[in-house]
Amino acid sequence: MLYGLLKKAALQYVTGESRIDGLGAGQRLLAKGYAISLEYIGESTAHAEECEAAVEEITALIDDLGQKGGSARVSFDLSHIGLMLDTELAYTNLAQIAARAQVAELELFVSMEESAKTERILEVYKRAASRYPNIGITLQAHLHRTPDDLPALAALPGRIRIVKGAYQEAVEVAISRSEALNVRYLQLVEKALGDGHRVSIATHDERIIEEAIRRGLLTMRGAELEMLYGIRPELGGRLKSAGYPVRIYLTYGHEWYLYLCHRIAEYPPNLYRAVANMADS
Ligand code: FAD
Repeated sequence: MLYGLLKKAALQYVTGESRIDGLGAGQRLLAKGYAISLEYIGESTAHAEECEAAVEEITALIDDLGQKGGSARVSFDLSHIGLMLDTELAYTNLAQIAARAQVAELELFVSMEESAKTERILEVYKRAASRYPNIGITLQAHLHRTPDDLPALAALPGRIRIVKGAYQEAVEVAISRSEALNVRYLQLVEKALGDGHRVSIATHDERIIEEAIRRGLLTMRGAELEMLYGIRPELGGRLKSAGYPVRIYLTYGHEWYLYLCHRIAEYPPNLYRAVANMADS
């Protein structure tokens, strides 16, 4: 019973459990003129067989997406494909996926996880991105280290996605949601674009988006707005109609509860929304 109710709450943000669900929702958004990112949900995988299964699923997703050029992309966590077991395994799996995506001319994106993993994620990313230009990386504006991490990516061709950060972190490591974070976020976007990177401005924060438009950032070459499926869809629609490049990030998979937890952690009112949803059932 509780399982069913939680799943219903998760379905606001997750397209479903199967690849067909993700691809179907993605296709509908593509038909409306959005670009898409797709993620097979999973993180902190502790067994090699499960990492292998995740690589297989991600590879099948790449094959199913086919040649969609820049309009579709695949995202994943390195801890879903081996980072928890061995950095080398994560690298090998990332390289295998990137080689397959290169054949399909598809871009990949490595997500950023909690700060305890940041160093290893960047290490694996830098190594792989110097061989595979089709891999991008996500950076979290809330981490104090991020302004120093950005210049080290200058020589790499991959796109940079800038997010605020979904994980709760200690004050020594990160700043919480605040005006200071918004200022830092925009500085990072400005710096990354100024350095010639292609940048995904990944936020639903209307004030940040308005300011990015005011400063001409969203119309710079290589800039796009990226938003999560189910969050502020009216804002995404409005911006798309106004002619800005908008990409929607969709997820699918059996581990939808993980994804729901992140959405609640970054925006606690979602807990009330989830409970209200359950009460309506
Ligand atoms: P916030 O200040 O959190 O929210 C601004 C406004 O947006 C809120 O007032 C509300 O109106 C709306 N809003 C925001 N979140 C929600 C929500 N969950 N439900 C309903 N309304 C909401 N984080 C990582 O740590 N690692 C990643 O790899 C990562 N990848 C991401 C990829 C994409 C494409 C996006 C859009 C986000 C990603 N995130 C990732 C999550 C990100 O770090 C933030 O937690 C999330 O985007 C919410 O922050 P915000 O910038 O929208 O601003």
